[in-house]
Amino acid sequence: MQSIIVVGAGAAGLMAAKLLSVNNRVVVLEGDSRLGGRIHTINDAGFSQPVEAGAEFIHGNLPLTLQLLREAGIETAETGGEMYTSRKGKWVDRDTMPVGWATMLQRMHELAADTTLEDFLQKNFSGDKFARLCEGARGYAQGYDVADPEKVSVFFLRDEWGAGWDDQYRVGGGYGPMVSFLAAECIKNGVEIFTNAIVKSIAWANNQVTAITANGQHYRAEKAIVAVPVSILQQAQAPASIRFSPTIDTYISAAQNIGYGGVIKVVFEFKTAFWNQQKPDVGFVFCNEFIPTWWTQAPDEAPIITGWLGGPKADALAREADDTILKKGLQSLSVVFGLGVSQLRATLVAGKVFNWPANQFSLGAYSYATPLTTQALQVLSTPINGTLFFAGEALYNGAHPGTVEAALVSGKQAAELVLRA
Ligand SMILES: Cc1cc2nc3c(=O)[nH]c(=O)nc-3n(C[C@H](O)[C@H](O)[C@H](O)COP(=O)(O)OP(=O)(O)OC[C@H]3O[C@@H](n4cnc5c(N)ncnc54)[C@H](O)[C@@H]3O)c2cc1C
Repeated sequence: MQSIIVVGAGAAGLMAAKLLSVNNRVVVLEGDSRLGGRIHTINDAGFSQPVEAGAEFIHGNLPLTLQLLREAGIETAETGGEMYTSRKGKWVDRDTMPVGWATMLQRMHELAADTTLEDFLQKNFSGDKFARLCEGARGYAQGYDVADPEKVSVFFLRDEWGAGWDDQYRVGGGYGPMVSFLAAECIKNGVEIFTNAIVKSIAWANNQVTAITANGQHYRAEKAIVAVPVSILQQAQAPASIRFSPTIDTYISAAQNIGYGGVIKVVFEFKTAFWNQQKPDVGFVFCNEFIPTWWTQAPDEAPIITGWLGGPKADALAREADDTILKKGLQSLSVVFGLGVSQLRATLVAGKVFNWPANQFSLGAYSYATPLTTQALQVLSTPINGTLFFAGEALYNGAHPGTVEAALVSGKQAAELVLRA
C-alpha cells in the first residue's frame, strides 16, 4: 500500500484517484469549492434544466468516457438539428469549406517539418486570392481548437481536420453526474477529498511529498499526481500556481510548450425556441457576429441557446463584466434572427456567462499542440524520481485532444505509472 496525494479533482485527478484507491491510501486536494474542474453542470441560475458551463458533448465514440458512463448507469443521447449559416443577418446556403481547403490539407500532409499555422499560411497561401481560405483556416483554429494561429502546430491541425466529423452525443443530466459517480467511487474506497484546498507548494524528495495549501495545511504522502490544468503550471504568478521545491524547471519549461486557449460560453433561455420559427430544426448556427457560434439543445426542444467564443478573442474579452458579454450575446442573436434586442429581452427567462479565461483554477478552456508539444509531452509523462507524476487533458497524446476523454485517459495512465513505480 502506498500513500498518494492527487492535486486537482477534475476528470483526470478523480479518475486517477478512483483507480489507485483500491489498494492505496489516497488524498485528493481540490482548490475550488466544488469538484469537476472544467466539467461544471449548473442546476440553478434560473434555467429549466441542467446547463453545461464547461464540457458538454462527447465528440464521437470515445471508449473510456462511454465505459465510465455505462459503469455509472448514465445514459447518452445523440445530438440532433440542422446546421445553418448567417452572414450579416441573412441566411446563406450552408457554407462549405472555403475554396482550396482540400489542397491546403494536402499541403499540410506533405509538410516535412512541423511549423505554426500562421507560418504555414504565409509561406504557402499568401496573396489576395487565398484571403478567404486563410481567414477560414485561422477562424477554425481559433473557434474550435481555441488556438492562436501563431502558436498552433500544423501537424496537430491536419490530423484533427483530416479526421472528419464524428457523431456527437450529450450526457443525460449533464457531465456532472459522471463527476459525482467518480467521487462516490473514490469515497467508497476510502479516499479523502478536500475542497477549498489550494495547493501552493509541493516539497518533495524520493518517495516523500508534502503539499502545503493556501490555508497552511500540510499533507504528506509518498507520491503525488499533479492533475491541475497546464495553464496553472505555465503561469507562476497565478493565484493557484504551485511552487515546487526542489524546482522542476525542465518540467515547467516543457509545460510552456503546450498551447492553451480560452472559451467564453453565453447561455440564454427564452420563453420560446424562436429560432425554430425561422428555420426548421435548428441545431448549430454559424455567423460572423461577435459571438460567432450558437447551438440549441436539439433534438430536445428546450428554448435554450448557447453561444461560443473561442481562442484569442475569448482571452481578450476575459476581463469584461458578465453584463457586457451578455449584451454582446443578445446583439449577436438579434442580428442573426432579425429580432430587436428589447424584443429578445422581453422573452428572456435566464442568461449566464461562463468566462473560463477568468476562472482562477482553469485560466482558460483546453489545450492544443504547438510544434514543440510532442517533446513536452515526453518530459511531462516521465515521473520525477518515481515520486511526482503529472496528469490532465493537456498531457494526453491521442486522437481526441482537449476533451474529457483526454483527461480520463491521462488520469488512468498516471495511475498506472504510480502503480509501476
Ligand atoms: C467551455 C468548455 C467547453 C468544453 N467542451 C467540451 C466538450 O464538449 N467535450 C469534451 O470532451 N471536453 C470539453 N471541454 C474540455 C474538458 O472539459 C476538459 O478537457 C476536461 O474536463 C479537463 O479535465 P482535467 O481533469 O484535465 O482538468 P480540470 O477539469 O481543469 O481539473 C483540474 C482541477 O485542478 C484544480 N486546481 C487547479 N489549481 C489547483 C491548485 N493549486 N490546488 C488544488 N487544485 C487545483 C481545479 O480547480 C480543477 O478542479 C470543454 C472545456 C471547456 C472549458
